[in-house]
Amino acid sequence: MAIVVQKYGGSSVADVEKIRLVAERVARTRQEGKQVVVVVSAMGDTTDELLALARSVCENPSRRELDMLLTAGERISMALLSMALNALGVPAVSFTGSQSGIITNEAHTNARIVEVRPQRVFQALDEGKVVIVAGYQGVSRTREVTTLGRGGSDATAVALAAALGAEACEIYSDVDGVYSADPREVPGALRLDELSYEEMHALAESGARVLNAQAVEFARRAGVILHARQTFGSAAETRIGPADPWDRRVVGVASEGSLIGIRIERGAPGLVARLRELGVPTQELWVEGEGGASFLLSKERVVDWPAVVEDLRGRGASAEDGLGTVSVVGTGMDEDARMLERFLEIVGEQRPRRVTASRHRLSAWIPEEARSRLAVELHRAFLEEAAA
Ligand code: ADP
Ligand code: ASP
Ligand code: MG
Repeated sequence: MAIVVQKYGGSSVADVEKIRLVAERVARTRQEGKQVVVVVSAMGDTTDELLALARSVCENPSRRELDMLLTAGERISMALLSMALNALGVPAVSFTGSQSGIITNEAHTNARIVEVRPQRVFQALDEGKVVIVAGYQGVSRTREVTTLGRGGSDATAVALAAALGAEACEIYSDVDGVYSADPREVPGALRLDELSYEEMHALAESGARVLNAQAVEFARRAGVILHARQTFGSAAETRIGPADPWDRRVVGVASEGSLIGIRIERGAPGLVARLRELGVPTQELWVEGEGGASFLLSKERVVDWPAVVEDLRGRGASAEDGLGTVSVVGTGMDEDARMLERFLEIVGEQRPRRVTASRHRLSAWIPEEARSRLAVELHRAFLEEAAA
């Protein structure tokens, strides 16, 4: 029997009524003769509320204790969904990340999945049950509970789909697919029918939170096709899969805020070593000048950023708060100088701190407050005018 993995995000399970509706949808998929594994996020804004709660008892809570707290959010929704299915007469069982065999590294609050041991999931499916898995969490080899970074339930779903050999991995949220920009930010955004893994990864890395970047990377490596769909409403979708080798195109615009620019004049190797100790992601670190370096630190990704910034300042780094990025994403973005020229024209008035061009994106570091306006302008120039 074919296995389908369905992931429902926070807005889809925001209250008891929605959980009942999700249960009905899962029940229908099962009636179609599929084995269903459901990955759920925490209800509504639970994760943000738990973070605020932690900060109300301790100014700088440890990442380990944060993980103990934050994983509770997904645990509530998994149990409630399982109960709602039982109430419909559908046998179901819920598992935490640890019980589902999601093994991660030790990096609390930003862990990476390193292995999936899905024996218990297979066993429950063989017993005819729907399996509900708490997203966003796993367990390290030293048996510590970890979380996967914000939006990490998507990564749980993809890793399970790969490990189970599922025929489909469906990611359900409040939008009916991936758009050419965040529809909340850019009114002219259009839904995209298909995207390559690389394009979707570049969008996610640039701030489009509709899909999690780690999830897209796993999907590419395992060859899992992703279907981004809406839980309630539209039947449309965006399909994310391998690239067409001949593609050269612009697919969308993304922006990100809440970034701090960190700069050090000298001593890049020491800074890098310290960042590793602090568990700060360094994927976009620039070494420059006479051994200086700079990178962007995301307040959302580094939960204890005030302590991290203080530590780095103590090592001679300077910090510029209030930064953001805007990016234009596609394939072959660095092949056409006219595109870079147009991009520079639009972001130029904001005196960007840095502009980069690579195969899948053009990107600029800009003042955070200019972010939404620039996203709208870039969308107009690169997607609306170009199409007309
Ligand atoms: P979930 O809680 O279901 O995981 P998210 O809030 O993480 O859902 O992601 C869905 C949201 O992502 C949408 O409401 C939308 O505002 C935002 N978003 C950002 N960029 C895009 C984009 N390019 N296409 C669609 N949605 C986007
Ligand atoms: N609940 C977590 C978050 O808010 C994980 C997720 O939604 O995927 O980031
Ligand atoms: Mg999400």
